[in-house]
Amino acid sequence: MSQRTAVRTHSFTESVIREMTRVAREHEAINLAQGFPDFPAPQLLKDAACRAIQDDVNQYATTWGTDSLRGAVADQYARWYGMEVDPEREITVTCGATEAMAAVMLATVNPGDEVVVLEPFYENYGPDAALSGARPVFLPLSAPGFRLDPDRLKAAVTEKTRAVVINTPNNPSGRVLDREETQAVADLCVERDVLAVTDEIYEHIVYDGEHLPLARMPGMRDRTIVVSGLSKTFSVTGWRIGTIVAPPDLTSAIRKVHDFLTVGAPAPLQKACAEGLCKLGDDYYREMAADYRSRRDILHAGLREAGFDCGKPEGAYYIMADFSRLSSLDDTAFSKFLARECGVAPVPGSSFFSRPQDGARLVRFAFCKQRSTLDQAAGKLSRFFG
Ligand code: GLN
Repeated sequence: MSQRTAVRTHSFTESVIREMTRVAREHEAINLAQGFPDFPAPQLLKDAACRAIQDDVNQYATTWGTDSLRGAVADQYARWYGMEVDPEREITVTCGATEAMAAVMLATVNPGDEVVVLEPFYENYGPDAALSGARPVFLPLSAPGFRLDPDRLKAAVTEKTRAVVINTPNNPSGRVLDREETQAVADLCVERDVLAVTDEIYEHIVYDGEHLPLARMPGMRDRTIVVSGLSKTFSVTGWRIGTIVAPPDLTSAIRKVHDFLTVGAPAPLQKACAEGLCKLGDDYYREMAADYRSRRDILHAGLREAGFDCGKPEGAYYIMADFSRLSSLDDTAFSKFLARECGVAPVPGSSFFSRPQDGARLVRFAFCKQRSTLDQAAGKLSRFFG
């Protein structure tokens, strides 16, 4: 490790997900690694963004988000979840959920604190905790079910625990926490006076069960920080529009951090997202979830036919698959081999676990792709392993 670099950068590596996108490009493989759609964003959004730029909405927006977007977000929380949110004091718009998560940790966690992260996890949470000087404490959920065990959660919380990070619907496991599990997290947070940071970016991509915001559980509104955004909901991952809902005192601190990190999210794109939230009705959300369900089924059938062992995710747009029957390589070697030799790129399972051996037999495939892309990938896999 270079002595010219800060120690806080030494405990984590570059994103493996984005590295696999580079590997896919190098081998011209179908990229089922990084989770971004290969189909168009809704026309209404694209038109609104073009119009905003032509109308010269091209200067800084209010640091914590435009009035119209915060207003639209507040309306949606009321409509979807019956949650009353004050757009003036409780909402911050950020550059994607990624900045949101970093700003939240920097604003709420002290050096030496512990942050509980459930495994498998999306790769940002550990580095975000480390950048805040905190220690991530990992709580493994066991395959194949990845259910949350309340007793193990209790055991992971200590005097030093500041926050628990919850991601549901989950990337990469596809779990959607049910009422019992959500209640167990709420009970724990209330009993031990711990904050919950929830990553709900896949809130509208649910196939089984329903999305239950932790903030709605009794006693949780005042101790939950809800991170989400429009990347997945509107298929605009490159726009970088994230949102944070948090009680006013936490929001003040979060806004300060956000201001000095990025000043603000892109003004014309905030305008377009506000329009999308106001104008797209229930049909849009229903169709999106139905489309993702059929994409899930295509990839799931393709993976099973090729010899992978995997269940159907309950939400989000990833399948974690065990490749033990197909290869004795480790997950990283297998992922690169698959990209190079078969022309389909996944993400190595170890990037979602603190102990690499826990993911050594797993790879993650994203299915936020056109049906034709998924058919082609399934065809390549079955010919290769057939
Ligand atoms: N959330 C997406 C994934 O898990 C994209 C990650 C990213 O590159 N920001 O693949």
